[in-house]
Amino acid sequence: MKATKTIAIIGGGAAGYFCAINAAQWARHNGLSVDIRILESSGQVLKKVKISGGGRCNVTHHCFDVKLFCRNYPRGSRELLSPMLKFQAKDTVEWFRKAGVRLVAEADGRMFPDTNSSQTIVDCFLTLAKQHNIQLMPNSRVQAIEPLAPYQLKLHINNQASFTADAVLVATGSAPGGYHLAESVGHTITERAPSLFSFKIKDPLISGLQGLSFSEAALKLTLPGKQTFKQTGPVLITHWGLSGPAVLKLSAWAAREMKRAGYRGTLTVNWMGAETSGEVENRLKRMKEEHRKSYLKNVYPDDLPKRFWLNLLDQHSIDPEKQWSRISNRELAGIGRALTASPLAVSGQSRFKDEFVECGGVALSEIDFQTMESKVCPGLHFAGEILDVDGITGGFNFQNAWTTGWVAARHMVG
Ligand SMILES: Cc1cc2nc3c(=O)[nH]c(=O)nc-3n(C[C@H](O)[C@H](O)[C@H](O)COP(=O)(O)OP(=O)(O)OC[C@H]3O[C@@H](n4cnc5c(N)ncnc54)[C@H](O)[C@@H]3O)c2cc1C
Repeated sequence: MKATKTIAIIGGGAAGYFCAINAAQWARHNGLSVDIRILESSGQVLKKVKISGGGRCNVTHHCFDVKLFCRNYPRGSRELLSPMLKFQAKDTVEWFRKAGVRLVAEADGRMFPDTNSSQTIVDCFLTLAKQHNIQLMPNSRVQAIEPLAPYQLKLHINNQASFTADAVLVATGSAPGGYHLAESVGHTITERAPSLFSFKIKDPLISGLQGLSFSEAALKLTLPGKQTFKQTGPVLITHWGLSGPAVLKLSAWAAREMKRAGYRGTLTVNWMGAETSGEVENRLKRMKEEHRKSYLKNVYPDDLPKRFWLNLLDQHSIDPEKQWSRISNRELAGIGRALTASPLAVSGQSRFKDEFVECGGVALSEIDFQTMESKVCPGLHFAGEILDVDGITGGFNFQNAWTTGWVAARHMVG
């Protein structure tokens, strides 16, 4: 039997645990001896897994076509292709099935454990780590990585004796300390910016309407330099402005540009989705013919929430007590335009308990995506959110952690 290989995992989060368990399984499968240690700076591991998906953990997305799947990463889509061909969402589902956790898909593709509880995923990882004798070192903040020689990396830990590992994984998520560790051995950290946030908007059209949603809106964001970004999908009115999948997706694709613009711009909303202002105006004219005696407050396009319709009439100084026969064509054209192109001023971003991630991280050109090993420091590997990879909401960020953690595990064991 070969000498025992020491594998150190910095960060007891999603990518760190997944890598540690897979490394142990791979070593056992090949009859190799490994000493795997997870070094976690805090007293609690898997914190984000626990709070993820509103406490349900959106583990992955039900899309088993790797090319299509990778399109959901504003940063990293090209680089993730090869690792995903080795371990993709379908493999995640199978991996968890073998571990006794059944993942089920919702209509929009998001996949959750069938218990609907993130604790199931936490328990699964903790049990497997224990079974494989993975050593957990809580309250162990790695402060420095000292490359002694290729594949000899000395780790300096707060208040504890340092030790040398043959292979190291840095899986510190978006913690600033992790980026410093990467920089200290020669890596570049790309521009960081929050991703997956809601837009702060104060506009009378949506004020007081929190909780209302639109199933298929079309959004166009224009930033001060005239740069534009477009998205379609569900939108939700909140206390602070607008949220929902279409807004979060827009925030991900425009993350860096919005940061540079100070989170100010104009969001033009087509509340009717794909319908043009002409089509909506014609629809309203037909309604006028069909409902001449009805009051505006009672009859309105059936895909609009009533409270929104009343706000819209108010914005156009149209009396809701008026009958449809008395609304002028000029007024109808104004409503048609407002429904298909409402310009709303964005004044900031807000992140509350939604899934949110950081874009930016270790430059992807410095990583070998066949192995997740650093090209500048032999023996050092990266996985998860520390990389300049981020996905839109829907399970894509965890899949990045599983895929890159799995690939790194295979290579670290050798
Ligand atoms: C509220 C919320 C909900 C989310 N929900 C979802 C979801 O449902 N689905 C989805 O796909 N994604 C979700 N995400 C995103 C997802 O949680 C992250 O993409 C994922 O956790 C990244 O995994 P990671 O292992 O790279 O980092 P993390 O899970 O952040 O783990 C990093 C670990 O490293 C430790 N650490 C940091 N520095 C050091 C150091 N110097 N030494 C030792 N340890 C260190 C940290 O304490 C932490 O435990 C959510 C995010 C948030 C904030």
